[in-house]
This record gives sequence, structure tokens and C-alpha cells, in this order.
Amino acid sequence: MENKAYGGHVLALPYPGQGHINPLLQFSKRLVSKGFKATLATTLFIHNTMKPQSSVSLQFDTMSDGYDEGGFTQAENIQEYHTRMVAIGSKTLADLIIKHKNTANPIDCIIYDSFLPLALEVAKNFGIFGAAFFTQTCAVNFIHYQVHRGLLKLPITSTPISIPGLPVLELGDMPSYISVPGSYPAYFEMVLNQFSSSDKADAVLVNTFYELEPEALDSMSKVCQLLPIGPTVPSFYLDKCLENDNDYGLNLFVLDSSVCNNWLNTKPEGSVVYLSFGSMASLSNKQMEELAFALKGSKFYFLWVVKASEEAKLPEKFVEEIGNKGLVVQWCSQLEVLSNKAIGCFLTHCGWNSTLEALSLGVPMVGVPQWTDQTTNAKYFRDVWKVGVRAKVCENGIVEREEIEFCIKEVMEGERRKDFQKNAKKWRDLAIKAISEGGSSDKNIDEFVSKFINS
Ligand code: UDP
Repeated sequence: MENKAYGGHVLALPYPGQGHINPLLQFSKRLVSKGFKATLATTLFIHNTMKPQSSVSLQFDTMSDGYDEGGFTQAENIQEYHTRMVAIGSKTLADLIIKHKNTANPIDCIIYDSFLPLALEVAKNFGIFGAAFFTQTCAVNFIHYQVHRGLLKLPITSTPISIPGLPVLELGDMPSYISVPGSYPAYFEMVLNQFSSSDKADAVLVNTFYELEPEALDSMSKVCQLLPIGPTVPSFYLDKCLENDNDYGLNLFVLDSSVCNNWLNTKPEGSVVYLSFGSMASLSNKQMEELAFALKGSKFYFLWVVKASEEAKLPEKFVEEIGNKGLVVQWCSQLEVLSNKAIGCFLTHCGWNSTLEALSLGVPMVGVPQWTDQTTNAKYFRDVWKVGVRAKVCENGIVEREEIEFCIKEVMEGERRKDFQKNAKKWRDLAIKAISEGGSSDKNIDEFVSKFINS
């Protein structure tokens, strides 16, 4: 690469979902702090929904997934969405590279979400450095890798399952595509496809940090060179080194930020349970009802994010009846909420960003995983990181109200509360250390930068 005043121009390409945009956006900000110019390209539909504001160093641009009016919801099914996205996405990504080609800052590095290997092919066609960015844990990636390479045969007929570097796993700890054969085939194909060309990528980045998964990272690094660069949480909550970096800054949903803060600020320290199921999960009516009754029955305050699409599933008059005991909002600034002193625990669907945010902010958890990697994340935070409990699911697939109430009580005031808090504080300290100057992730970011500059 020719020497330039700036480190280079990086194009970051996330898979179009909140949980994928947030980490790549944050990583782009880190690269800007290391002297790069960065552009985050989202689909046209997401761009129009989020309305991001470009700044001097971090810019936003668009490509198309072929569904400019409605994204996923416009597609017949997820398989069709992915197929069209590969075709239209490849073409519009190439157009984007060409558009920048004759400017002062042509794109010289593409960091693509590992769900989108199409980007590596495009990057290579233009002779551009291409780095895969894995948004899930190393453990989950390694499980998918094992399946992709035929090292772990499906369906699994004997348990427990041993994978080098991972704790012994039961079937229910595996990603849902594996424990429930045939579920969400299009997504399963996509997570396996992450490894279709990852060995040709110029670098492989993972949103985790070494101290969190040393055995898994050591083990997987024997077959795939990995650079753990996380946690990709805004700097304000960790090392505080990046100016004005206190929020992801992009939301697919409308925020109720001040409402949450004002309400939380009136509550005593450690007295509130925060609940959220992330941006994608859709709960059954029965599950929503069980949650609602558990919250009503429990003695703790609660702040519950119920997306607009889920609101109709709440029991009738629930919001009126809870009064000041609970606050239900459609979306919040999760980091702001988690860092509020009033929060005592996080009842989470165990999405990786949510889990990593709770670890980074030192908040104990109750896990109610729904699908995909969430079950494995729950296994880790209960048994490896020891920062909470995982709720038991009944045979009908529902976590019942008594179990929810029990788990909340256990984390809010049970015998193990102090241990959960102590461990959560330990992971927070390690997260801060990893991303701070000279920490394991910071060094890996520097290694990535020098790999790119010397390419
Ligand atoms: N999030 C948020 N406000 C909310 C709920 C979630 O800002 O009310 C953010 C959260 O901080 C996280 C992301 O949305 O960064 C969700 O990602 P995760 O991987 O946890 O779950 P997904 O949405 O992908 O299932």
C-alpha cells in the first residue's frame, strides 16, 4: 500500500441488523482513532431508517440488498433475501468501490461481516485488502467451524459434546441450529458459510477479548489466525480514550432515552431488573404473559423493552396496572440503562452484544435465550464467567412465571449475588484493560493495522 497522510480508507460492511451494525460501527471508530478514515456502508433501507450523520472522519454510505423499501420484511423468506442480497449486494458494493476510486480517498480495506463473504470476493476483484469480522464469540464460531469442516457430525447422537478449548457442552448449550435440527435452515447455511472463504481473508477479527475465552481462542487459532479486538463498546464506558464516543449513535428503533433515565434516577441502587430481548427475537404470547406475571409478582422494580411489534402480546391493562413499579419502553439506550446505578440485573435473551455489554459494564444476568448463539452464550455466562443464572425451559418451550421470579430473586438477592457481582466486576476490569492502550485487544488492533499497512 502506498504511504498516505492517513492510515488508509476502510470500508466497513455490516450484515443489516442492529446487533451487527453496532460492533462494526464501534470498530470503525477505533480505527479512526488510529489514524484511518472509515466509511460504514449499510443497506439503503437501513440508511433511510437510521438516518446516520457523517462526520469528518466517520462517514456513511450505502449499498443495496435488493430490498430498498423494507429490508427483510420485503422478502418472501430469508432464503430469498440472502440469495438476492448476494447478487445485488455484490454489484452495488462494486459500484461503491468504483465511486470512491477516483477520489482523494479510494477504499483500500474492506472489513466485512463474516455473514457476508460476498464482500471478500468483490474486494479481491479490486485487489483490496479484505478482513472478515466475526460478531459472535470464538466458542460459537469454533462450533460452526467444526460443523462446516465435518469434524462435528450432525445430528448429534451422543452427549456431552467435547470440542477442544470449549467446556463440555450438552445439546441445549449448542447453537439452536444444531440442537434443533432443521430449524432456520437459511440462517444455518449462512453461519456455516462464514468459513467458505475465511482462509482467504487477509485478516480475521473477532468481537471478543482474549481474557474472556483464552482456551477457545488458543484452540481455534491453531486452524485459523484470529485477532480478538473487542469489546466493541463505546469508549466512554471502557477506556474513555475516544472523544465523544458515548453511544453507538445508530438506532433501528425510536429511542425513549430521557424517559428511562428520569425513571431510573428515582430508584434506589441495585433495585431494578432490566429486561430486553434484543432487536430480532419475537416471543410467543404465552411467554410474554409469563414474563408479565412474573414481573408483577416479583417485589423488584423493572424496566422492560417491548418493541412496538411485541406490544400487543402484553396482557390487557398490564402497563396501567403496574403503575410506578415498572416502565415499559419500545427501545432504550441500553448502555445508558445498564450503566445506571439503579440496575440490579439484566434479564436478557443473551444476544452477544447484550451479553458483552453486560460483562463490560459489570451487570449480573438472568439468561432466557431464544435461538441461534444465545444458548451457548448463556452456558458461558452461567458456567464459565459465572455472572448469573439461566432460566429453565419447560417441555412446552416456555419459561414459566415461577422460574422467572425465582431466577430474578436469585440474582437480585440470593446467596450467590455477591459472587455474581464480584465476577461481573472482574470481567469489567478485564474488558477495560483489554481495550486500553497496551491491552490484548488494543495490541491486536495494532497488529491488524500493521498487517494492512504492510500488505
Ligand atoms: N439495544 C439497544 N436498545 C434496546 C435493546 C437493545 O440499544 O432497547 C442494543 C444493544 O445495546 C445491543 C443490540 O441492540 O447492542 C442488540 O444486539 P444483540 O446481539 O444483543 O441482540 P440481537 O438484536 O442481535 O438479537
